[in-house]
Amino acid sequence: MKAAVLEGIDRLVVKEVPDYEVKEGEVLLRVRACAVCGSDLRIMHAGNPRVHFPQIIGHEIAGEVVAVGAGVTKFQVGDLVAVGADVPCGECFWCQNGMGTNCAINYAIGYQFPGGFAEYLLLNKLTVIQGAVHRIPQSLSFDEAALAEPLACAINGLEMAHLGVGDTLLIIGAGPIGCMMIEMGRHMGATTIIVAQRSPQRLEMAKHFGADYYFLSDEHLEEAIREVTDGEGADVIMVTCASPEAQEVSLRLARHRARINFFGGLPKGSRDISISSNLVHYKECTILGSHGSLPRHHRKALQVMERGMVHPANYITHRFPLTEIHEAFRVAESHQGLKVVVNP
Ligand SMILES: [Zn+2]
Ligand SMILES: [Zn+2]
Repeated sequence: MKAAVLEGIDRLVVKEVPDYEVKEGEVLLRVRACAVCGSDLRIMHAGNPRVHFPQIIGHEIAGEVVAVGAGVTKFQVGDLVAVGADVPCGECFWCQNGMGTNCAINYAIGYQFPGGFAEYLLLNKLTVIQGAVHRIPQSLSFDEAALAEPLACAINGLEMAHLGVGDTLLIIGAGPIGCMMIEMGRHMGATTIIVAQRSPQRLEMAKHFGADYYFLSDEHLEEAIREVTDGEGADVIMVTCASPEAQEVSLRLARHRARINFFGGLPKGSRDISISSNLVHYKECTILGSHGSLPRHHRKALQVMERGMVHPANYITHRFPLTEIHEAFRVAESHQGLKVVVNP
């Protein structure tokens, strides 16, 4: 089969690799869509402790079941499925207690397990049993269904920040995840949604998703946000961008009892942030983090897309065949669009 193999840092090669053999408990997919994620770009440029070269990366996947191994009853040939990245081991303390995003091993497709930038994807036995593999609702295309993965992470992040009815939601960073949080946040009860974004281009694109206020992240940001929140700040702040400055400013924009989610991880080597802990103390704020998602978030993501609560088609700005994956990565990195989908 043809696959884009990451052979080393910045060495992504499209080539023929041996076909998968489907063994007991395994499921083979013909990959129809694999969306490019910011983390794919980071893995390519900087590596990741969980990715050993050579590896096929890509973890926002949808495809068709073309073979099932002995003993598989959950899926059959012809099923159309979307696949999420994280695969809970099912056995560690965290997995046993329903907290698979904190799994001691932290398996993921496109990390330890080969990913979706290939014609075929083999779901191993653990993924078939524990992973996020769900049938695609009829109304969704493969490209749309692939976006259940990032949406699942957005849902997990908003849930962990306890977004509720009547809350003011501030989203710092209006990439695809930030835009999904606009749509999802509204359905979870946010009555005022504010978006802050550094690049004017991305801020402009985010305007299609229905937030109440859009601001450029510049020196006037704090003032602008105070003005539209009666001087109070936001109840829930989602920092989706990978910026220490954004994390620092978020605390100054927090209302009393605010929940601030450092959703975007900082790149290796970033400086530590400095915050006034008395702001946390006197405002009784909660600072938390979230990463990845559980299989149930992935299932919910497909449901909300099917119901038209989140509009996946509006996020997809570019499509490329596997042979043009370098161009796909370049476009994704340029931030000229939102989601870039590869169709192997
Ligand atoms: Zn992703
Ligand atoms: Zn585990």
